Amino acid sequence: MVLMKGNEYIESLRKRGPLKIFLLGERIENPVEHPIIRASINSVALTYDLAHDPEYRGLMTAKSRLTGKTINRFCHLHSSVEDLQKKVKMQRLLGQRCGTCFQRCVGMDALNAVFLTTYEIDKKTGTDYHQRFIRYAKEAEAKDWVIDGCMTDPKGDRSKRPSEQRDKDVYVHIAGRTDDGVVIRGAKVHQTGAVNSHQHLIMPTLAMRNEDKDYAICCAIPADAKGITYFYGRQSSDLRRLDESTEGDIDCGNPVYGGQECLVVFDDVFVPNERIFMNGENEFCGRLVDSFAAYHRQSYGGCKVGVGDVLIGAAATIAEYNGVSKASHIQDKLVEMTHLNETLYSCGIACSAAGEQTPAGNYLVDILLANICKQNVTRFPYEIARLLQDIAGGLFVTCPSAKELRNPETREIIEKYLVGVDEVSAIDRIKMLRLIENLTLGRAAVGYLAESMHGAGSPQAQRIMIGRMSNIEEKKKLAKSLANIQS
Ligand code: SF4
Ligand code: FE
Repeated sequence: MVLMKGNEYIESLRKRGPLKIFLLGERIENPVEHPIIRASINSVALTYDLAHDPEYRGLMTAKSRLTGKTINRFCHLHSSVEDLQKKVKMQRLLGQRCGTCFQRCVGMDALNAVFLTTYEIDKKTGTDYHQRFIRYAKEAEAKDWVIDGCMTDPKGDRSKRPSEQRDKDVYVHIAGRTDDGVVIRGAKVHQTGAVNSHQHLIMPTLAMRNEDKDYAICCAIPADAKGITYFYGRQSSDLRRLDESTEGDIDCGNPVYGGQECLVVFDDVFVPNERIFMNGENEFCGRLVDSFAAYHRQSYGGCKVGVGDVLIGAAATIAEYNGVSKASHIQDKLVEMTHLNETLYSCGIACSAAGEQTPAGNYLVDILLANICKQNVTRFPYEIARLLQDIAGGLFVTCPSAKELRNPETREIIEKYLVGVDEVSAIDRIKMLRLIENLTLGRAAVGYLAESMHGAGSPQAQRIMIGRMSNIEEKKKLAKSLANIQS
């Protein structure tokens, strides 16, 4: 089925085999109905529903380069510079709509990175990974899968290579081989949307040396494969989702949408040959990691900008509710927030516009500019959030619980003292303050702030790439030439 709707996607999650999921100390048998998990599913479901909205179809869908059919852009192999730009615009739109991480980009970025890398492996070594991968990508398109792009290993002692670790399992590796496939063991951390996925596309986490060949594995497995255990990440204020009353919704800030991060453990999971896309070709790990990272660093120039739009909107709204919207310093802070946010967007668009076709035929962003984009994302959202907190005033962290609004003894007092301008109810003001708390301190802050810092690689990972690609020698020549220095 091409182009599922949101409810069909949710139904497809129910049809998976049982998943072994632990959350808050309990085994979760029915993840789709769990209030914490459901909020994160709602965010992914938006990526399906908006593909059916006539207003957004041009952004949300694409023509498959493999079949010519119309597919969801999240399953698309980018076929032009315009595709790369549309990807960023789509991510901004979704960030605006859910105000958090909608999770599906890691799979899109992994599909594109594995597509180009398998082509290059085959060309050099005569393997047939690329055709296998094309079959996989066609199935992903046809079934409109959510794919969890699994890259980050736990890594243990960072001063040691994978094969030097005391416990080999801190990097995913091949633990056994048969004629039919391989058995993998290990874990991946920070896995965005893992429980909400149909598939995991597993990639090595760093460039591997010859002694680390067993760690040079790229492969795909279904989310319900035997041997997988999910440990659902605990995020700040998550218990508020367990209070299903209206007051609980108010205190959530963003009651409908949430993000999701998991620790995923692979305990001797079998992978058939047909789903193996790299098996010991360690010299290509660097290419796979760098291209995946570049695509995902581009992604942040879209999704975080969309959430940034929500922060700016919240700042302007709470200023109105507080009666200070005309103050010149408020206006100036809104301009500063917009300047920072649009600078991030400019980076997302720029690395896309400077993208080029790969030997495999799909398009890759400009790697240096994608790293510049993400480096800015590690900083600017913090300033945008700081300005929002400044404009909001302290009540977003000192506000009494919305349960006080249900209690007849306290309701009138809360309404009397927490009101702002006459035209706006105290309840609406509290709702906006709780959204601000959610965006800058709560669950969405994981997606907006901490994920801006560490998602798609921590700041130093981008600085290493920027240093590697900054071409200082050429720049020295420019300076020497102007100064008329010959040597
Ligand atoms: Fe997509 Fe952004 Fe979430 Fe990454 S952090 S999966 S790019 S929404
Ligand atoms: Fe992310």
